[in-house]
Amino acid sequence: MKSFTIFLALMITMGSCNAQKTGKTGKALKVTVFKGHTATVNSYIFSNGKSQIVMDVLRSSEEAKQLAQQIKAAGLPLTHILITHGHPDHYIGMDILHKAFPDAKIVVASPEIKNDIKNFSLWMESVGWLDGEVNLKPKSDKNPDGFDYDNAISVLSDDQLKLNGGGILELKTKYDPAEAEHLTTVYSKDLNALFTSDFCYNKVHLWLGTGVDHVHIQNWKNQLAALKTKYAKTNPVIYPGHGDTSDISLFTTVTKYIENFERVTAGAKTKKEAMEAMKKLYPDWKQDDFLLLYSVDYHIKE
Ligand SMILES: [Zn+2]
Repeated sequence: MKSFTIFLALMITMGSCNAQKTGKTGKALKVTVFKGHTATVNSYIFSNGKSQIVMDVLRSSEEAKQLAQQIKAAGLPLTHILITHGHPDHYIGMDILHKAFPDAKIVVASPEIKNDIKNFSLWMESVGWLDGEVNLKPKSDKNPDGFDYDNAISVLSDDQLKLNGGGILELKTKYDPAEAEHLTTVYSKDLNALFTSDFCYNKVHLWLGTGVDHVHIQNWKNQLAALKTKYAKTNPVIYPGHGDTSDISLFTTVTKYIENFERVTAGAKTKKEAMEAMKKLYPDWKQDDFLLLYSVDYHIKE
């Protein structure tokens, strides 16, 4: 009987210990992947059971509506919409998300990324690419109802984004220009996960098109080598900008892809020849008709 009482007391003590621990750190952080169809781009929804943050918001407003529905269905407030870089496949959905969650702040990790987003939209508007996404046309004297890039997007003053109710996302932007001029990666210690944004693609052809010249390509390879070294011991889960979740072997896969692309485009006489060679090397990789096509187009002059 005595030993049973001690056992019981021990169990109660252990129980309260666990409860305290849970109380201190909040509920466990979770991440949900929303796989976009257009450009095979990902959105990531972070939740700690009390609030949510979404990272990147897809290439089309139609798909962003589905993303908004999924976030709403969780029944928790959305506090932030984080855009990792100024490429439209990661930010076109922000007007839809902004309207669905007026209290959520659209945030970026540096003023340069805010400029990249606005400048890309101004350029897209100038070539007619926003005619199908009129809500993203920049606000101006001519278009007073346009998207107000200057006021709608805030630059974070910190390199951390804290979830309301516990959990920290560590943001990093000090990278040399590579896939994009400026890019944010997100690390979560709680999840032991690295969200590489477009430093990594998994079974999706890489964007090596306009803006990604030979210096950018060299920087990209250097950065992948640095990430490989940095995360060798902690072995985090890798969540790429495009394609499926992976592990740190993805750094090597992406590096090899870039080397193959360089070799193929340096040796091919025509764009068609390069397209065929890359498709033969990567037969099951997606987006050959868009990402690969424009990448080959940029690097081979006929
Ligand atoms: Zn992308």
